[in-house]
Amino acid sequence: MPVSPFRRLGILYLALVAAILIAVEVAAPGTLARIFPALLIILLIAGFLSILFLRSVAARIRRLKQFADRAAAGDFTPLEKDHGRDELADLAQALGGTVAQLGQSIHTLTEERNRSAAILASMVEGVAVVAGDERVLYCNQAFEQILELPEGSSQGKKLIEALRQVELVAAVRQVLPGGEEVTGEVEVGTVRPRSFAVTAAPVHAAGANSAVLVLHDITELRRLERVRRDFVANVSHEFKTPLTAIQGFAETLLGGALEDTVNRAHFVEIIRDHARRLARLTDDLLKLSRIEAGRLELELRPVRVAALVNGCVETARLKAEAKGLRIHVLLPDGLPPVRADGAQLGEVLQNLLDNATQYTPPGGQIDVTATSNADGVTFTVADTGIGIPESDLERIFERFYRVDAARSREAGGTGLGLAIARHIVDAHGGRIWVESAVGQGSRFHFRIAAAS
Ligand code: ADP
Repeated sequence: MPVSPFRRLGILYLALVAAILIAVEVAAPGTLARIFPALLIILLIAGFLSILFLRSVAARIRRLKQFADRAAAGDFTPLEKDHGRDELADLAQALGGTVAQLGQSIHTLTEERNRSAAILASMVEGVAVVAGDERVLYCNQAFEQILELPEGSSQGKKLIEALRQVELVAAVRQVLPGGEEVTGEVEVGTVRPRSFAVTAAPVHAAGANSAVLVLHDITELRRLERVRRDFVANVSHEFKTPLTAIQGFAETLLGGALEDTVNRAHFVEIIRDHARRLARLTDDLLKLSRIEAGRLELELRPVRVAALVNGCVETARLKAEAKGLRIHVLLPDGLPPVRADGAQLGEVLQNLLDNATQYTPPGGQIDVTATSNADGVTFTVADTGIGIPESDLERIFERFYRVDAARSREAGGTGLGLAIARHIVDAHGGRIWVESAVGQGSRFHFRIAAAS
């Protein structure tokens, strides 16, 4: 056990007194015996007072030590006031101030750390910090979710062991020596691949290099780019055939066929048909772009179902009957009017009737019906035509999607009719859908809210 400095001081003090007494006794023998009673009393009183004083000082020092231990363990409750006026009181005050400041700093740092952790945890971007030895120091939940890693599995692991994407490891290796920020792209997942923009930035802190990896989801952006590219390719393709035909037949005519009295009219007819097709395409494209840009202005008012259906059927009947098709209309009594733009909704119905006529072989039948319930009025155009394979059902409302492109083009179709129809129905807050079986026919439905 260590000997306390006070005990050492006491022993020293006793030794000093003993030495003085021995010196007095040697100088004047017998003195000690004479003054002994008085000396003893003085010594006892002095000893008693010293013990009292030393005990109080020791208690104050113990209190300081306990306070320091408490602070080291993270308890920053202030020290009780020391009422002394000596150096020990000054020391207690200084220690109390230091610990209070330390407590405040730790509180601020903890708050900042919690805030940063909450921000990183709530981010949709994946974030990871990689140390100089390529170990993952930190990563947020999104990072592990994006890379399909088990939660909490990557922290502390070497990057190369934690993930499969070598591009990410390569990017980190490039910036760890303190190089420039690196950007790139990575694809994750096999069934539904998603694209992420990757940024690896070097961080130099506390004399060590590390890297921050950020993954940002750009799947939708890439999808839109692909859609736009496909769209441009489709449009160019659709324009190419009629333009080539027009050019070819015009050149044939100029090259001498103008004199060919038998065929020249036929050639001009072909040019006219292709020009019409181009006009239809441009009309449909303009319409589609207007709708998609949100510029379709609907004049919504109550529209009578019977008037709408009969008007469209009258227009379609001529073509249908010429092809040997029967059209039946069945409208129950008491159908409420729908809240719609009559012209636009007429276009939807007309398109469905045209398609039914187009894709039903001679001798078939087209039924047009409407029913109403609490959700609105459902219009149905059913045919006994060629039907649509199940795998195509989901896609026929896409722009330019056709089951049989050659057949559609031959018949003058643009592949845009159903896309326009869906946009118009959507703009009415309604829904359009189809049921079909190959060889048996198709049933197209759309539902529009009733006018209140
Ligand atoms: P299109 O101008 O080619 O008719 P649409 O957008 O109107 O373009 O239709 C898209 C495709 O859906 C058509 O090419 C056709 O393959 C299919 N389709 C549409 N209506 C019918 C139907 N009633 N019966 C069979 N197939 C249909």
